[in-house]
Amino acid sequence: MTDLREVMKSSYCPLVFHGLYVRRFTGEEQLIAPCCLAEKSEQFRGQQDLMSNQYLEDIRNDVRNNKRSDACNTCWVIEDQGGQSPRKIALGRFLAKDLPTTLELSEKQSNECYSIDYNVLPLCNAKCIICSWEYSSLWAAEAGIKIISGDELKYDHLSKTNLDNLKRVYFNGGEPLLTNEHLTVLKKIKYLSTVDISYNTNGSIYPSDETLDLWSQAKSVDIHFSIDGIGKRFEEIRTPLKWDKVSDVIKRVNLLDGINIACAYTIGKHNVFDLEETINWFADLPNFNVQKQVHVHTVYGPLRLELATSARKAEFKQELEKFSSKFYWHTNIVNSF
Ligand code: SF4
Repeated sequence: MTDLREVMKSSYCPLVFHGLYVRRFTGEEQLIAPCCLAEKSEQFRGQQDLMSNQYLEDIRNDVRNNKRSDACNTCWVIEDQGGQSPRKIALGRFLAKDLPTTLELSEKQSNECYSIDYNVLPLCNAKCIICSWEYSSLWAAEAGIKIISGDELKYDHLSKTNLDNLKRVYFNGGEPLLTNEHLTVLKKIKYLSTVDISYNTNGSIYPSDETLDLWSQAKSVDIHFSIDGIGKRFEEIRTPLKWDKVSDVIKRVNLLDGINIACAYTIGKHNVFDLEETINWFADLPNFNVQKQVHVHTVYGPLRLELATSARKAEFKQELEKFSSKFYWHTNIVNSF
């Protein structure tokens, strides 16, 4: 068994061999990657064993040759800045579950799918300022683009991919709780009791009885609420959602047995100064540990922190100092701009 410190230093990532990101578009179109942060494949059509796709195999070959794959640049940038990359987090997670963490094992076991990041169709009831028509049907409608006809929900992208060894599934969107697409995926999983499931949701929809029933069969359930500002600020950032309704859903889900909730805060030029108030709101929830359950990550696109003026960046850094010693994400965020 390879020494873990050596694995950490190498280019090995368990998700390259055992992870699958699927993003659905209209009709049969989709693209894939080893995880949601890695560079994505070209869009392609049709059903196939996604784990055997040549795009993923090319990334695996880079790792087999101990090369840092260009597809994983997000991780290399974070690691070179001294941060905790998703690769290292995945290694820790795989170790904790006694799954293969070494290149030798992975070569033998080839490409069994242990982890899926699944982006449902881009149907959403919000048009958040950090989002676009590619992920939200509300933005698409405003732009006059028709992206969904209705038949797409029937198409089964995973029909030829073996999910029997799955240990983790993460739903993103679109808004995953808006349709039954996530339930279709959960029902395909034979051994749900061995699977950790998680969601990124905008918090506008309380889970249905069927959803709660399937969640109760899973090994664990984590619900990450995309909240990056509260009250009126929330409503400006995530139009047309209403804070009263969303905050009520968060409070109710937080009280459900066996469900762990978290705040997923997407930080950009627009909301650095909303972070403290948001964290304080979550701190008032029963059994909520803000240091462990508030996750902050940077936005993509024109609101990126790095696009601020030098003077503004200095103000951002000063504001973020409030969180420095207590929050694991602080180094990654401050070093990103
Ligand atoms: S981007 Fe990072 S976490 Fe994702 S597959 Fe590549 S190395 Fe692993």
